[in-house]
Amino acid sequence: MKAAASESLPPLARNSHAMHCKLCLSGLPFSQVEMDSSRIALGFYCLGTLDLLGVLETKTTPSEREAWRNWLWEQQTHGRYGSGFKPSPYMTSDILLDEESEFDTPHLIMTYTALMSLAILRDDFSKLDRPGILKFLRSCQRGDGSFSASPNGGEADLRIVYCAFVISSLLDDWSGMNVDAAIAYVQRCSSYEGGYGQTPFGEALGGTTYCAVASLYLAPSTPLSPIEHRLSSSERSRIIRWLVQKQTSLGGFSGRTAKAADACYCFWCGAALNILGAGDLVDSAALASFLGKCQYQFGGISKAPSERADPYHTYLSLAALAIYKPKGTNESWELPQVDVLRNATVDTALWARNRIRAGEV
Ligand SMILES: [Zn+2]
Repeated sequence: MKAAASESLPPLARNSHAMHCKLCLSGLPFSQVEMDSSRIALGFYCLGTLDLLGVLETKTTPSEREAWRNWLWEQQTHGRYGSGFKPSPYMTSDILLDEESEFDTPHLIMTYTALMSLAILRDDFSKLDRPGILKFLRSCQRGDGSFSASPNGGEADLRIVYCAFVISSLLDDWSGMNVDAAIAYVQRCSSYEGGYGQTPFGEALGGTTYCAVASLYLAPSTPLSPIEHRLSSSERSRIIRWLVQKQTSLGGFSGRTAKAADACYCFWCGAALNILGAGDLVDSAALASFLGKCQYQFGGISKAPSERADPYHTYLSLAALAIYKPKGTNESWELPQVDVLRNATVDTALWARNRIRAGEV
């Protein structure tokens, strides 16, 4: 079923969405308190929203941006497992409780989001401990090829593998991992449905399918796994079919079979289809219509119409709209191109790649 024509879309409330994220960035209102354990990730979605809307320079001051850069660098830790970023000043790890380093254990997802946030803030990365990051990556890879979020323990799944792949691509150095083992792990997460589960034999999910597809395209060719043989054409078709079926009659995507549409999956499923070269199968007018209805009246975008907004769904909705621009709409819907593999604007991803690359100081 086709949704309403894009001509009838409401304006994209850019200013309100920017203010929602600016507010969350500066004070973490009560509705976001439960996210304190991952403040770096929350900061990434807020900064990413301002970046996508092209208002970072106008809605924030140079001293605010400097304060955020300094705060992010304060989360970089150095220890026997190498260097990475911890989730927030108050985060304690659930492993190594009897060891001195417990408060400083770096976290892979937070390291990825910290690096991207610093790139959005146009940091020069002179404080980055590149050899330390590679050592940290090595200490997180497990025998089955997967990565745990923290060294020698913690959760291990495709999301964390994806973060390790993006970090390696930004360093342009893959010596922090056994690439073949990691790719084999990704392939083992393929589900009979066509999408990818969070771990082998898991139910196919939109977010982890994105992580799998992006990872398979990010990793360089190896003798054992040439990039062109990583996905057979029948496998590719199966993934595309599963992803396309996730676009619901409301225009939004759902994250798993027989679930309701949720704004974040417009990015996870839409971006995966774009990477697979199947973006023309997305009904972009219906997608924009759904996301237009998810705009919260006081700013920000929510997971579904009439729900409360948050920076996570705001950022991912805008990123989805940047990939699938609705045709014939007014300029409020204009968004910059995104680097779909690294989940940032093309300009930010390029900044990160040019300055994080190993060997440059
Ligand atoms: Zn969601």
